[in-house]
Amino acid sequence: MTPITAELKKETKNIPVRGMMDNVMEQFNSAADQINLHPNIRKILSITNNEIIVNFPVKMDNGDVEIFTGYRVQHNNALGPYKGGLRYHPTVDIDAARALAMWMTWKTSLAGLPYGGGKGGIKLDPSKYSLSELERITRRFTFALADNIGPEHDIPAPDVNTNSQTMAWIADTYMSTRPPAERTANQHVVTGKPDASGGLEGRDRATGYGVYLSIKLWSEKNNRTLEGKKFIVQGFGNVGYWAAHFLEKDGARLVAVQDAFGSIQNQKGIKVEDLFNYSKINDGSIVDYPNAKTVNKNKFFALDCDICIPAALGNQITKENASKIKARLIAEGANGPTNVEGEQILLERGITIIPDILCNSGGVVGSYFEWLQNRNGELWQLDEVMVKLQKKLKESFDKVYEYSEREAMDMRTAAYCIAIERIEKAYIQRGIFP
Ligand code: NAD
Repeated sequence: MTPITAELKKETKNIPVRGMMDNVMEQFNSAADQINLHPNIRKILSITNNEIIVNFPVKMDNGDVEIFTGYRVQHNNALGPYKGGLRYHPTVDIDAARALAMWMTWKTSLAGLPYGGGKGGIKLDPSKYSLSELERITRRFTFALADNIGPEHDIPAPDVNTNSQTMAWIADTYMSTRPPAERTANQHVVTGKPDASGGLEGRDRATGYGVYLSIKLWSEKNNRTLEGKKFIVQGFGNVGYWAAHFLEKDGARLVAVQDAFGSIQNQKGIKVEDLFNYSKINDGSIVDYPNAKTVNKNKFFALDCDICIPAALGNQITKENASKIKARLIAEGANGPTNVEGEQILLERGITIIPDILCNSGGVVGSYFEWLQNRNGELWQLDEVMVKLQKKLKESFDKVYEYSEREAMDMRTAAYCIAIERIEKAYIQRGIFP
């Protein structure tokens, strides 16, 4: 079993979420203008369908009762059940959940999945709680959400500071509260579960693999190879590590890494597995890795490289650092790592951004496979999963790349246009009830 407390405790610094809603709305409106989105559909997509806020009591290890606030925002379900992660962090609030839920609507639509978008979480610092307290908090949150989630209605997944263990607790609590005959049929109420509890082989690497594949496909379209290309990664967690793993296998060279605790660089190359093994025995951190030099954290994005992968938090590339970036390509592993002002500077400088809703969509595609596997009572092998993942992600990449070339627009606007057009079509076909 994953040692959840160690994992949760490794990162509790503030995640900047202010401005996320401004970002997502600006991105949406700019794409809506491009495609002349019907004004009524613009109105619908500009707001969320449902916002659930639950306050619930949990008994702590010392016998005291603490009250927690949890959120679930369901942005849109025109294409299918709401889908998106649950985050445990002090910065979780209704605005952050709204912005992240909207991003999920665009991401699932772009990926061609039968899902809408949702997101939520609990406002708390998980490092302050024991494993059994986290279990009780998670189970009581699931109970408080009740029928606001469900395998055909709203399907949560892991996000920052939640993991497969959290999902196993949610699935177990949800199933335990169903009528007996329905219990086991509800396993797909969450995705990102551990393997013995209905999880998908390869779900761990799906997002990082998608980041790598986007970089590879972009390179091929631009007659470049990955051999010898230098890349830097912000965040050496699930997404950053797996992206680096696949890039190194294809001949690219990891030259710098930043995590919550520090930054390191070695222009001759950092061995990905060696750094990963080091971080495992160093409380999950890359700090003081012996085969690299420490770098000032404010200089990280200005380091010499060909490819930059922000795979940690939102709002990391801004007007403060965008003009100093050396990379020719930014591959967004995190959600919303580049803000609107930072993006403007990068685009003016001719730097390509593979946008988050495309670049990190391997995770939600993997989740879709897990949901299908559970729904159909199947068990898929890893090689089968990777082939299906590659096919689905390549289709999305090609669609966005071709749209951006044809319409002479950046890849983010192209990705949004494709995503929004698909939802617009669904509304036009179905009309508005009543
Ligand atoms: P994780 O918790 O496994 O790893 C996060 C990494 O970021 C850690 O190395 C941490 O030290 C680092 N980090 C935290 N604060 C930092 C800071 N201030 N500066 C530099 N580094 C910092 O998380 P993850 O699952 O790898 O997710 C990373 C990002 O990717 C998040 O934005 C998440 O929403 C997004 N994402 C994840 C998935 C997925 O499947 N895991 C899918 C899509 C998007």
